[in-house]
Amino acid sequence: MADKAVITSNNFPFKRLVEVLDSTKKVCVIGYDFSWSSRHAPHFTDIRRGIWSALSEKSKLNPFASEQDYCVVMNWFNCRRQVISASNRVYEDSETPSAKLSEYFQLLRDTKPKEYLAIQQSDFFHMLQRMGNDLGLTIATQCEDGLLGLNDIENAYELYGNIFQAKCHENGHEFASWPAHNEIRQRIVCESCGSVIFPNVEMFGWNNKIEVRKKLLYQIEKSEVLILMGIDRNLSPFTEVKSEHYLRLPVIELLNNGIVFEDNKSTHKISFNEIEKYIEKRINTKECLSKGTESYQKAMEYLRQIHKISEN
Ligand SMILES: [Zn+2]
Repeated sequence: MADKAVITSNNFPFKRLVEVLDSTKKVCVIGYDFSWSSRHAPHFTDIRRGIWSALSEKSKLNPFASEQDYCVVMNWFNCRRQVISASNRVYEDSETPSAKLSEYFQLLRDTKPKEYLAIQQSDFFHMLQRMGNDLGLTIATQCEDGLLGLNDIENAYELYGNIFQAKCHENGHEFASWPAHNEIRQRIVCESCGSVIFPNVEMFGWNNKIEVRKKLLYQIEKSEVLILMGIDRNLSPFTEVKSEHYLRLPVIELLNNGIVFEDNKSTHKISFNEIEKYIEKRINTKECLSKGTESYQKAMEYLRQIHKISEN
């Protein structure tokens, strides 16, 4: 992306953008920046490399080797599941009494409640769902936080698994939910084979989601545009996809302050401000333009509007 010329709004190719949005096969990949902005969901990258990657080799925990480490790591997962569930409840129930809200916020370690409330009004996931329906997207996620499923976005490709599901270490028996919510003091075993149960995510080199990724790569090969939100290019599918088709594919990247459109070897960037001018010239109502905030949700809304305007 960096070596391509950046051309700004003067000649932003809106027409071509809409043309691309009208194509039938579209793949949308979302990453942790999106999860963080929308629900302040914790990141799980360290899990993949071994807990916790900043520790020295000697003091790193290995839940596959020691029961004690297993308990520490599984309790850490439990705590993070609570954070995610709590963040979801805050959104689900806008009538939540403030006492209860503050109880939830206590669970939200690493989060900033003020910002949290500010975005409570308009939900990213509903927006993603709407965008998915309107534009017909195949959705994939680099996140393990299960937020798509919790928000009724079904059949998403979870490229690294889902911490709310479980899988046994030796025989790969899968379970739709994690079985132990209280403090874990010993290894949890598979009811079918007796092997140890882990969250169904890639961790410590175990449980690589090759099959899911293959299916997504197949979808990308058939797709006519990629839509990206808050992704990490050092993760799947970007580390695996190398085809000619992929290299030629138009890419729409939603930022929290604008939209980048890569097409036919050139890259165009447009800011929210410039998009607002474009939309205001074409529609009378301004109700949908909530100026001043930066968010992926807003980028999604603007993309939908650019598409809608073209239909009128
Ligand atoms: Zn088993």
